[in-house]
Amino acid sequence: MTEATRIPVSVEFFPPKTPEGVEKLRLVRQQLYALKPEFCSVTFGAGGSTQEGTFNAVRDILAEGQNAASHFSCIGATRAGVRAQLATLQAMGVKRLVALRGDLPSGYGMGGEFQYASDLVAFIRAETGDDFYIEVAAYPEIHPQAKSPESDLKAFAAKVHAGANSAITQYFYNSDAYFRFVEDADALGVQIPVVPGIMPITSSTQLMRFSDACGAEIPRWIRLRLQGFGDDTASIKAFGLDVVTDLCEQLRAGGAPGLHFYTMNQSAATLEICQRLDIGR
Ligand code: FAD
Repeated sequence: MTEATRIPVSVEFFPPKTPEGVEKLRLVRQQLYALKPEFCSVTFGAGGSTQEGTFNAVRDILAEGQNAASHFSCIGATRAGVRAQLATLQAMGVKRLVALRGDLPSGYGMGGEFQYASDLVAFIRAETGDDFYIEVAAYPEIHPQAKSPESDLKAFAAKVHAGANSAITQYFYNSDAYFRFVEDADALGVQIPVVPGIMPITSSTQLMRFSDACGAEIPRWIRLRLQGFGDDTASIKAFGLDVVTDLCEQLRAGGAPGLHFYTMNQSAATLEICQRLDIGR
């Protein structure tokens, strides 16, 4: 790996629901460890719905000698509940958290004692000092519930002022949105590393479904090309690899401090993109 190609990567998983899923993820992780990830993170279902699965996967990653980050969402949570979960994570030896508000499934009231992720970050700092390295979420294309781009940026700054160390973005396919976000944050005096979240494209329907839900924009040309491939999964994958590798190259060339891959518990696309980028050799 040359200086020009050196860029840290991290990988994200979700907690599997079945014993088969747990075994499959174990294999996927072993394959991805070839990239020498900075850390592997595991998502956390809002309302604590996946707590056991999340913590089990985090335990497995630590036992495999890798750095693990547990995602942690606060929507619907109480201070006492969060305090107890933080104690569990400390006892497990977890040093890194991705602190989030989360989204409750429709039908649940907001409830809980935390309103925003910034409240959670402040609480973690008040309770545990500097024990955890805290990541927060960033939205270069604006969080879907934000009142305005300005208020969303201020909400991001509030998380940093509350004690976040670095950020991972929602995925995007337009690098300008990322670079503009970093510049705007910098202008507000917010200078923590903002690592782009990278979603490999392997399935058209899955990508459209996720993106509609989380507010990530699929540029028209990508949407139309994907639609044009119909059920031709080989063409979708080949196109997706080209598009996402190009995006990563633009981000690396523009000085992004790392790449965080939303692996969807699959290794092939992330490994292929990293190989094309000459990462991890
Ligand atoms: P916040 O930062 O609290 O922002 C939520 C909304 O409130 C935004 O619109 C913001 O503009 C607004 N806001 C914040 N503070 C204020 C304020 N003071 N005044 C007015 N408005 C304000 N979800 C999960 O359930 N589990 C996961 O594991 C998970 N992992 C994720 C990882 C990453 C890297 C990312 C980018 C997202 C992840 N999500 C996860 C999704 C996330 O929970 C949702 O996007 C959620 O809607 C917002 O969470 P947040 O932490 O960004 O919230």
